[in-house]
Amino acid sequence: WAAAAHPSRRVVLASPRSFCAGVERAIEIVEQALETYGPPVYVRRQIVHNTFVVADLERRGAIFVEELSEVPDGVPVVLSAHGVAPSVRLEAEARALAVVDATCPLVAKVHSEARRALRDGNSVVFIGHPNHDESEGLMGEDPDPRSPRIHLVESPEEVKALEVPDPDRVAYLMQTTLAEDEAEHVVKALRETFPGIGEPPSSDICYATTNRQRAIRDVAAGADVVLVVGSANSSNSLRLVEVAERAGAAAHLVDGADQVDPAWLAGAGTVGLTAGASAPPALVEEVVAALAALGPIRREEPAGTEETYRFTLPAMPALPTKKA
Ligand code: SF4
Repeated sequence: WAAAAHPSRRVVLASPRSFCAGVERAIEIVEQALETYGPPVYVRRQIVHNTFVVADLERRGAIFVEELSEVPDGVPVVLSAHGVAPSVRLEAEARALAVVDATCPLVAKVHSEARRALRDGNSVVFIGHPNHDESEGLMGEDPDPRSPRIHLVESPEEVKALEVPDPDRVAYLMQTTLAEDEAEHVVKALRETFPGIGEPPSSDICYATTNRQRAIRDVAAGADVVLVVGSANSSNSLRLVEVAERAGAAAHLVDGADQVDPAWLAGAGTVGLTAGASAPPALVEEVVAALAALGPIRREEPAGTEETYRFTLPAMPALPTKKA
């Protein structure tokens, strides 16, 4: 660690960073379910994509599963913030599970846009990352995947290869955690390929993603190295690393302070710091403390966009009564 020390290091914290309203709500929902029903409370998929959040809730009695088939009958089950395919809700209903839905309202908004576009007779192009819970849930809105009406694309090249029944009836939607600048390239390709394409009423990339990306872009422009606190499966945290890199800084994703590699800090007079929307603020403070342990630091936190979003919690459903 000696080589990682610096005589006058600035640590610049991007603002806003860390938890968004959707993540706070999802965590509170699991906490409230634990309080209402008592442990164990089953949660389908990671409630939010963060190792520490999941481990903490596991300690308190949450059991995380991949599919509802792993959940016993007659118990409460929380659906994660990333949203689910309608088939998951139907399965839960058929099994009379007490469902507590932690889908972020901003993800739910994209699902209703998809249903509306399909109802209006459009093919839907969803710009998103494959193998992500949010994309999987949204793609599940397709009424018949054997003759798909929702198409997942990640790049302008994939747009060129799209085949739809009627090129004049196409609408596009986006994953909430995309990088704005990258998504713009895909949207440009879509507009060129389908000139009359339907657009979402307002950007599907959520306020928290946008604000965190803009904040780290500014910080990264003046930093030697950027540390992004977040887990490897967190889409919005990965995008923050990419945005910082595109702004010219070396950038690294760390789950916590113990993952900071001293070699990254050698000669770094200015360290930028941020956290994905699913990463707890306390972990950022631990990274600041680890940097301070190397020698004096000057902590700076330029003002950023103020966030006032707050989502209400759903009511906790009654448990199904056991048949005599
Ligand atoms: Fe909701 Fe955006 Fe947070 Fe995802 S990142 S939970 S869409 S507010």
